[in-house]
This record gives sequence, structure tokens and C-alpha cells, in this order.
Amino acid sequence: MIELVCASANPDKVVEIAALLDGVARLLPRPPEVPDVVEDADSLEGNARLKASAICAASGSAAVADDTGLEVDALGGAPGVYAARYAGEGVTYADNREKLLTELAGVAEADRTARFRTVAMVVRPDGSEIVVEGVCEGRIAFADRGDRGFGYDALFIPTDGDGRTFAEMSDAEKNEISHRGRAFVALAAALG
Ligand code: IMP
Repeated sequence: MIELVCASANPDKVVEIAALLDGVARLLPRPPEVPDVVEDADSLEGNARLKASAICAASGSAAVADDTGLEVDALGGAPGVYAARYAGEGVTYADNREKLLTELAGVAEADRTARFRTVAMVVRPDGSEIVVEGVCEGRIAFADRGDRGFGYDALFIPTDGDGRTFAEMSDAEKNEISHRGRAFVALAAALG
């Protein structure tokens, strides 16, 4: 089985990615001495490449990274790749959700369409790459619902669900239809 060094140091994400790549790749932890990568590219693929390349160069092994954005149609695709710092630098997930609700004030349910997009990437020491994408369509709720998950989960109602937000679903229910779940299923297929 191939081994991949995981660019993410977020333990929740590492467990999720390890489960999605189970049977295809063994995930190795990110070397602790590698400094944080500044994610300043203007695309999801660019940021995923920055992370995977840095970890590949530091470890000398193939590395896997992912980057996620939220595209809201009524806002011209914002916050997009800037989802993590939508309300500013050093903000909380709740600050970002509050800003999103403020920006969408007065926008009717039918016009609150949005999607999460994840790019997942493997970079190998020889410079070769695998790049895949996972998309989850949905709409933005009028207020937070649910207390599971993270980020914008309490505001995102996936089209492939039953009307609940991601934050009202179990991890397994979310992974089944989520952007990240779909990206890593595609990555497992490309690797396998
Ligand atoms: P990252 O690229 O995975 O770090 O995601 C960037 C930002 O998008 C995060 O800080 C979250 O605000 C948001 N985000 C990413 N994935 C999810 C998700 O599955 N649910 C809700 N928000 C997410």
C-alpha cells in the first residue's frame, strides 16, 4: 500500500481522510518541524499545491493536501477561496457565519444557492501530481441550525440531504455527500 504524508495537522481532518483512503493509502503524520504553509494562492488548487509541495519537499515522500471553498451565488461566488477569513484575520467560525447572514439579508430562499468545493491533491517527489475535486450543492439557511461539525456547517443545507444542515447530521451522514468526502473518494479511485 502506498504511503502519503498528510499536509493537514488538524486531527479531525486526518482521521476523516485516513478513513476515506482506507485500503488504498496509509497516512503518515505531518512532520512536526515543518512550519505552517502560508495559503496565499488565489485558487483552491493553488493552495492545495502549496501545502502538498511543501510537505513533499520537507519529508521526501509523496504528500496529500486539500483545500475547500464556499461559493455563494448571490454574492458572486464569495467567500470562495477566502472562506476561512471571510470576516477578517483571526476570526471565529461564528464570525464568518454572521457575516454571511448579514450579506444575504433580504435574499429569498430560492436565491440562496451555494456549493462547497474541495480540491484534493497528491504531489510526489518526482514532481508528478494527482488533482481531484469534490462538489456539494446546497443553499444557505436563514439562521444557524445544529451544533455538530465546524465552519459554515450550521448554515449549509445540502441539496442531496433531507433539509437538515450539515451541523444537524452525523459525521457519517455528512461524509457520504460532502465535498471533502467526494473529493477523497475520487482520490482513492485515482490512486487505487
Ligand atoms: P480548509 O481549506 O479545509 O481549511 O477550509 C477553509 C474554510 O472553509 C474553513 O475554515 C471553514 O470555514 C470552511 N469549511 C471547509 N470545509 C468545511 C465543511 O466541511 N463545512 C463547513 N465549513 C467548511
